[in-house]
Amino acid sequence: MTQLITTLGPKRADELGMILAHEHVFVDLRTYDQPGYAQADAADVIELMAPELEKARAAGVTAIVECSAVGVGRRADILKAVSEATGFPLVVPTGIYREPWVPDWAHAATEEELREWMTGELTGEIEGSAVQAGWIKLSAGDDGLTASETNILRAAAGAGASTNAIIGSHTIQGWVVRDQLDIVEEAGYTPERFIWIHAQVEPDFELNLEMARRGAWIEYDGIGSEDSDDGFYVERIQRMLDAGFGDQVLLSHDRGWYDPAQPGGGTPRPFTYISEQFLPKLRAAGVEEETIRQLTHVNPFRAFSR
Ligand SMILES: [Zn+2]
Repeated sequence: MTQLITTLGPKRADELGMILAHEHVFVDLRTYDQPGYAQADAADVIELMAPELEKARAAGVTAIVECSAVGVGRRADILKAVSEATGFPLVVPTGIYREPWVPDWAHAATEEELREWMTGELTGEIEGSAVQAGWIKLSAGDDGLTASETNILRAAAGAGASTNAIIGSHTIQGWVVRDQLDIVEEAGYTPERFIWIHAQVEPDFELNLEMARRGAWIEYDGIGSEDSDDGFYVERIQRMLDAGFGDQVLLSHDRGWYDPAQPGGGTPRPFTYISEQFLPKLRAAGVEEETIRQLTHVNPFRAFSR
């Protein structure tokens, strides 16, 4: 039996409903050498983000996958405090974001050292927080993988192969995902445990299909963003369903969050758009309730549980 490993412990499928696959409760997009990087009082994060998690819960969301890896202000201790204050489970990653957010220690580390570090967080805890990592988040440069990003990906494939953790990568170009899937296979893991994060940004839908055929998860995670319209997402989802890949699609907003670079953490954007605005449009386009349940409940649990 697989379980979703969260800030509030492992959860079975029958304890959960809708899961959002890509959101942020806390993220710092400055690089780690900036003053105040990733610094905040947990109480301030709770004050700003607890109401957002309450709204999400009222909209039917039962767990959120936090996508802030090392490099963009991952703070498992703060996420745990927010979860304990709200009773709301979050799924926290191990892994490292792309250049120029890769820290010096990771540049200096060998593939084996990175693999051991990831495996340690996936089987033990993150930085003394008592939070076990649920999955592996990483990223690739827009113009292809750098040497250190390749090293991190190979390490992730090794850590995934021994823990069954899923790897999710922020990757903007489809041809870069093709390279990533080759590396994952060479390193002894499988595209079926790889999520192409931000797959909607690739203009060539054929590349979405190519990676789905290889077994990868296709994540459409900018739903409700200012620069997109719902019709675009409805169409991409329907084309994936028509091609028979409805069990490999993930949906999310990429919203939130407490930002330590902003006074008071800034103004979060709610995690409720999909429930309240988008799913009614998907229904109106003829997508059946059973399929909606697959996209919002079954798929994210199957992807992130282990
Ligand atoms: Zn994100």
